[in-house]
Amino acid sequence: MSLRAPGPRLVAGNWKLYKTNDDAVKLARDLLAALKPAPGCDVVLCPPFTALSELRYALAGTSIGLGAQDLFWEDEGAYTGEVSGPMLVSSGCTHVIVGHSERRQYFGETDATVAQKTRAALRAGLTPIVCLGETLDEREGGRTAEVVTRQFDRGPGTIEGPDAARIVLAYEPVWAIGTGRTASPTQAAEVHALLRARARGAWGSTADRLRILYGGSVKPDNAVALFAEAELDGALVGGASLTTAQFLPIIAAAAGS
Ligand code: PEP
Repeated sequence: MSLRAPGPRLVAGNWKLYKTNDDAVKLARDLLAALKPAPGCDVVLCPPFTALSELRYALAGTSIGLGAQDLFWEDEGAYTGEVSGPMLVSSGCTHVIVGHSERRQYFGETDATVAQKTRAALRAGLTPIVCLGETLDEREGGRTAEVVTRQFDRGPGTIEGPDAARIVLAYEPVWAIGTGRTASPTQAAEVHALLRARARGAWGSTADRLRILYGGSVKPDNAVALFAEAELDGALVGGASLTTAQFLPIIAAAAGS
């Protein structure tokens, strides 16, 4: 039995709090110029909110998709500073990152808000890329399985019915994000297998088609080894998605070329 979802892998670039509009359009154009027409894996760029509309036009008609880094759980209302699912759709997004560890760490997101945001993304017709992962203390304390299981059960695992088939998970060990320290391919594969088993318990055979990305200091020099693990359906890439020189080899490794 296949250990990962059928079909192409997905590589999403999380640009975090980087790139003004001009810089964002330049990077997108440079990527498009260098990327093969059929890159062999799905590619999604997640720029800051401010660059979404610009990139929507830069990416129109190309093989690269557009995603946001967050959304609010209500569609509209008196929520100053927030951005909703329908607004992201109207800005050209197909994907949205939910529950990134930096949002959990700095902006008070919890498993409960992750569940609400996942629901809001699905309601808007977006593909949520739902992040989960343990801290260094939790890993060293032998609690990785307990933590990611809890995050799954209280977050994306609360979604029932056919909508679950549209969820993407991203396993992102917090100790590996932006630190240059990567989970070994075996460590990543173990958690991916655990998450797929948990998803199978919640969603049945839908879990066989679930894409589970790995995120945490994916770089050109570790991407080939990571993607040698059958469980990895792709990657959520932060720092290395900010330059073509680093992002393109990761896409090539994911595509197996
Ligand atoms: C991320 O932002 O999701 C991420 C994994 O960052 P980095 O690749 O920089 O560790």
